[in-house]
Amino acid sequence: MNNGVQKYVDEARKHLAERSRYIKNEVRKWKFDTIAVHGAYSVKEAIENNQGSIIEPIYMSSSQAFRDSDEMEAALAYLIPSWTYSRIHNPSIGYLEDTLALLEGYGFDGETGCCATSSGMAAIASATDPFLVKRGTRSDEKINFVSNAQIYGGTFQQFSIRKMQERGIECRWVVEPDNIDEWASRIDGDTRFLFGELPSNPGLMFFDLKKVIDLAHENGIPAIFDATIATPALLRPIQLGADIVIHSVTKTLTASGFGMAGAVIARRNIVSNIDSEPMKEDFAAYIKLLPNRDIGWCLSPFQAILTLNDIRTLRSKVDVLSQNAMKVARFLNGHAKISQVNYLGLENHPLYEVASKYLWLVDAEHDEHYRKAVNRYGHLMSFQFKGGVTAARKFFDNLKRIWRATDLGRIKSVATIPAISTHQQMGEDLRDMANIPADLVRLCIGAEHPDDMIADLEQALDKA
Ligand SMILES: *Cc1c(COP(=O)(O)O)cnc(C)c1O
Repeated sequence: MNNGVQKYVDEARKHLAERSRYIKNEVRKWKFDTIAVHGAYSVKEAIENNQGSIIEPIYMSSSQAFRDSDEMEAALAYLIPSWTYSRIHNPSIGYLEDTLALLEGYGFDGETGCCATSSGMAAIASATDPFLVKRGTRSDEKINFVSNAQIYGGTFQQFSIRKMQERGIECRWVVEPDNIDEWASRIDGDTRFLFGELPSNPGLMFFDLKKVIDLAHENGIPAIFDATIATPALLRPIQLGADIVIHSVTKTLTASGFGMAGAVIARRNIVSNIDSEPMKEDFAAYIKLLPNRDIGWCLSPFQAILTLNDIRTLRSKVDVLSQNAMKVARFLNGHAKISQVNYLGLENHPLYEVASKYLWLVDAEHDEHYRKAVNRYGHLMSFQFKGGVTAARKFFDNLKRIWRATDLGRIKSVATIPAISTHQQMGEDLRDMANIPADLVRLCIGAEHPDDMIADLEQALDKA
């Protein structure tokens, strides 16, 4: 390294030490809401780097200019904090990543890192593909991974078509994920990770994730969770020992509905049977700077700030959305035309107890209204009709205010029929395995007054 490059590296080291002191001594001592509002964006950073802008600026620039060749060399060798080119990194994306890493790591002793992606599907691919590589020269190696079967339709396609059919990587489905023996029975020496989605979309499946994490670690492999439906306001798997969490940031984290985004959040020093120290040490930074740079599923800086703006009010929003959903679920649960309601907050749901062990509104004990731990179950539910698919379709077609759309996580109430939309591509047999019946309606309740949503449901049910 020449002296010029060294000078930049020394300067960067000082800057990094100062920044990590700020995060450790101040930011990580804040409550969840304060972190959601400010992230790691400080007054100092605003004044010194951003003309005092109190809101994180949108850097709509493809690339970063360097002072000289030494700085360029140091940046491209990843020796100094820099962003270089917006496919690799960008300051606005960094603000979002800092906030998500901190929120997902809230209550966890160790450090977390985040890599933002263009969508939730890109997050799932970038969190899983680095493990699905050959480990040696053994020709009988049968690379596989294990996942619960009740997962988002797009994830199911990515696992069963893109990975299994096209690449010969076996995905082993767990049909009853609350049975830990079924997970254990799927693992062998060539298993690369355990993947779980909880609560699942649209069936609201849940399981004892601590047991799955322990099982993964006993086998020397990482536990990866899609916690999109819960958001870090209700569930933070890394605190429980999980290695990696992925989010479709498109959903409740961007409740306004302003666009698509995804994120991979990882703890330091993840467990893995892949022999790559840099990957294990800081998985989020590794995928960001290497595979994701080469593949190119980067997030737009504009999107990063729109999303950041939504996240600032995450906790209180998830609280309100959950309470509204609870009221609606209770109404549906008692309705004569409905045969079954899947909402984890209903006491008669078979997974109510295990869900209640894990789904807590963050910081409720510090909230003036509660002053104690409070369970919340999110805003997604699904239900079936005594009159079967004909009744479900009639009901659906008669909704007036609730939107018919393949979407969830919105500030506005949205309903869909998964068998003809999000899970259509799976086909009937696989939908049976994943428990997606044809008359299942998925409903995600927004921030409207719940009585108005109940009135809309009631008039549509009258016609079903
Ligand atoms: C929507 C969704 C995804 C995919 O995210 P996109 O942002 O749409 O790519 C993954 N997992 C879950 C649970 C989802 O609901």
